[in-house]
Amino acid sequence: MLDLAIIGSGVAGLTAGIYGARAGLSTAVFEQLTPGGQTATILKLENYPGFPKGVEGVSFMMDLLEQAASFGAEVRYEPVTRLVPGEAGQAHRLIGPQGETEARTVILATGAAPRKLGLPREEALTGHGVSYCATCDGNLFRGRTVAVSGGGDTALTDALVLANFAEKVYLIHRRDEFRGSPLLQKRVRENEKIQLCLSRVVSELRGEKRLEQLLLTSTKGEADLELDCEGLFVAVGVLPRTEFLRGVVDLDEAGRIRTGRDLSTSIPGIWAAGDCRDTLLRQVVTGAADGALAATMASEYLLAQA
Ligand code: NAP
Repeated sequence: MLDLAIIGSGVAGLTAGIYGARAGLSTAVFEQLTPGGQTATILKLENYPGFPKGVEGVSFMMDLLEQAASFGAEVRYEPVTRLVPGEAGQAHRLIGPQGETEARTVILATGAAPRKLGLPREEALTGHGVSYCATCDGNLFRGRTVAVSGGGDTALTDALVLANFAEKVYLIHRRDEFRGSPLLQKRVRENEKIQLCLSRVVSELRGEKRLEQLLLTSTKGEADLELDCEGLFVAVGVLPRTEFLRGVVDLDEAGRIRTGRDLSTSIPGIWAAGDCRDTLLRQVVTGAADGALAATMASEYLLAQA
């Protein structure tokens, strides 16, 4: 039986792995696909303390993975599809297609996934012009015309990343004010390749086999606009990956795990860390801080039980 099972290998999960293993707990981090979470898709991480020149997200996460392993945290490539909390101090059960694991404490660090626009042809055109990751797919659009939908930090960053490859980038946002940081807004406005389409939403995706055109509807009652473009990068926020936890731990109306000051969930012996919880700031640095706190709380809980 594990002392600590961590579900998710993003920055919160792997930091919890470091802290858990260093506290002497037998620790495993469960990952369903590839390690690194959303951070691994950041081209250049510029606001993590200690990296004055910035750092590539993927190399940052590979180092974090190595660091967690070096202290003895085991990474298991096994999806967890069900969590059965133990009753009255009993072990919790993590269940997946590869079997079942028991753990005395659990940290939920499942992160978040990109929100979709919810348009009729969105799924069919995903991978055929529609993408949710500019860092991953941007270079497929060298010399092409692309668009980004959204007004937060991700959309602004995506537009800047894409301007390195594409000939033209339309940035479509439903309001006339951006939510993203003033520094990123300034960089976007100064970039000649980026054209703003404000107070507009994408209302139709057109194209048979690949994306060819967008229909943009005005949110201020102006006429519709047809925009020829070969790529659309959707950056309209993220949704917590907590579907399998519904009915297991308390979630808020947006599906985020409700946590206390010590990151405890509604179930004793289970904590949550990072973007899957009801936090006010979703950054790499806050994910790392959450991971450290949750693993420290798990360690103290086990000491109190010993
Ligand atoms: P976000 O801040 O939640 O922004 C989502 C954007 O999408 C908003 O502008 C929102 O419009 C728009 N939107 C939402 N639903 C929409 C819809 N159905 N149709 C059209 N537009 C829609 O999400 P995010 O940009 O992914 O950022 C998530 C978190 O990661 C934030 O805390 C952010 O600071 C952080 N982040 C930080 C960095 C960094 O470099 N520091 C980079 C990326 C992300 P409204 O503004 O009108 O609501």
